Amino acid sequence: MNKSFIKFSNQAKQCHCGNRHYELTIDRVEIKKGALEDAVSYVISKQLHHVVIVADEITYKVAGEKLQSLLEAGTIHSTVSIVRVDDQNDVVANETSIGQVLLEVPKQTDVLLAVGSGTIHDITRMVSYKMDKPFISVPTAPSVDGFNSMGAPVVINGVKTTFQTHAPIAVFADMNILVQAPRDMIAAGFGDVLGKVTSLVDWRFGHIIGDEPFCPLVYRMTEDALHTCINNVERISTLTEEGIKILMEALINSGLAMLLFGRSHPASGAEHHLSHYWEMELLRTNRKQILHGAKVGVSTQIIADLYKEFVFAIVDYAKGNKESTNQSLKNKVLENEVEITNLIGQMIDSHQVKEMIDLVGGKTTYEELAIEQPLLEESVKEAHNLRERFTLLYIYNKYVRS
Ligand SMILES: [Zn+2]
Repeated sequence: MNKSFIKFSNQAKQCHCGNRHYELTIDRVEIKKGALEDAVSYVISKQLHHVVIVADEITYKVAGEKLQSLLEAGTIHSTVSIVRVDDQNDVVANETSIGQVLLEVPKQTDVLLAVGSGTIHDITRMVSYKMDKPFISVPTAPSVDGFNSMGAPVVINGVKTTFQTHAPIAVFADMNILVQAPRDMIAAGFGDVLGKVTSLVDWRFGHIIGDEPFCPLVYRMTEDALHTCINNVERISTLTEEGIKILMEALINSGLAMLLFGRSHPASGAEHHLSHYWEMELLRTNRKQILHGAKVGVSTQIIADLYKEFVFAIVDYAKGNKESTNQSLKNKVLENEVEITNLIGQMIDSHQVKEMIDLVGGKTTYEELAIEQPLLEESVKEAHNLRERFTLLYIYNKYVRS
C-alpha cells in the first residue's frame, strides 16, 4: 500500500462521523515510470494465471500491446477484449459494450486488466463485478477521477446510472504512458478535479438541508485533492512528468475518498448531473461524445455562477411568508442561513476556474463544447432529476423557482 493509503486508512479508524467507512481494499498503487512491469510482476506474484486485457483500439496500442508481451515473457497467458466503438467512433460504457466484454471474457479468467481511460474502467468494473472476478486498473491518461472507486457510471437504455460495484485490487499508472496522453485528456482530468469546487458545496448543503450522510475526513481528502491541483496549476499546464504525477495523484486520492465513503457524494454534485444530462442527449441524438472532465470543467463554472444567485433566492424563499408546503425546509434554511451563505461566499469563483482550465489547455465554455443554449437551459431545469440528491440545484428547482 502506498503512503496516502496507510494515512487515510488510519485516519478513517479515528473518524467518528457515524457513517460506515469502507475498507481500502486496494493492495497496491503505483504511479511511476515502469509501472507496467510492476503490474506484470504483481500478476505473477498473485498467481493469477488467466488474464484478460480490456482495452479499446487506441489504448491497446498505447499500453495493452506492451502489457501483453510483458505477460507473455512472464509465461502468463492473456486474451484481449477490444471494446468496439459506436457509430460516432466513441467507446461508450453501455449495455452493448458490457455485453460484448461479458461474452468475450472466458469463464476460467482469474483477473481482468482495465487498460484505458474512465470508460474502459467502467465497463471492466461492471463486468468483473458481475463475474465475481477481481480487476486491476491500468490508466492510460490522467483524465478522470474514478479509476479506483466502486462506482460504475454506465448508460442503460439511454439513462446514465451509477452502480456501486467494486474497486480494483491494484492500480498501475505508468508515467511513461501518462506523459504522452493528449493534452485534451489531461485538461479533462484537471476539469474533473475542479468539479469539486461545486460538488463539495452541494455535499455540505445536502447534509445541512437534506440530512445527507457526511464525513469530515472524506470532505478534507477531496478538498486536499482539489487544492493540490489548484496550487500546482502551472506545473500541470506544462505537461511535465512532475505536473502529470501531481494530477494523477489528485485523481487517485479523490477516487480514494469516494471509495472510503462508498458513495460518489464528495466528488459529484450538480455539475456532474449537468454533464450526465448533456452526455445522454448527445447519445440520444447520435452525436460525438465529449470527454467527461471537459464537460465537468464547463458545467462547474455554470453551476458556480448560478449558485451565487440561487442561494439568495433560497434564503428569500425561506424568509417569505408565501404559503409553502415545505415549512421544514424553510426552517432548516433559516436555522443555517449563515453557514449556507458562507458556503457559497467562500466558493472559488467561476472566473478562476475558467482561467485555470484555459491555462491547462481545456475548453472553457459550453459553446466551445458545442452544447447549444436550449440544451444548456433545459439541463439547468431538469438535471437534478437524474439523481436523488439534495443539491442546491434540486432545492432551487423544486421549491424556489417560479
Ligand atoms: Zn467526474
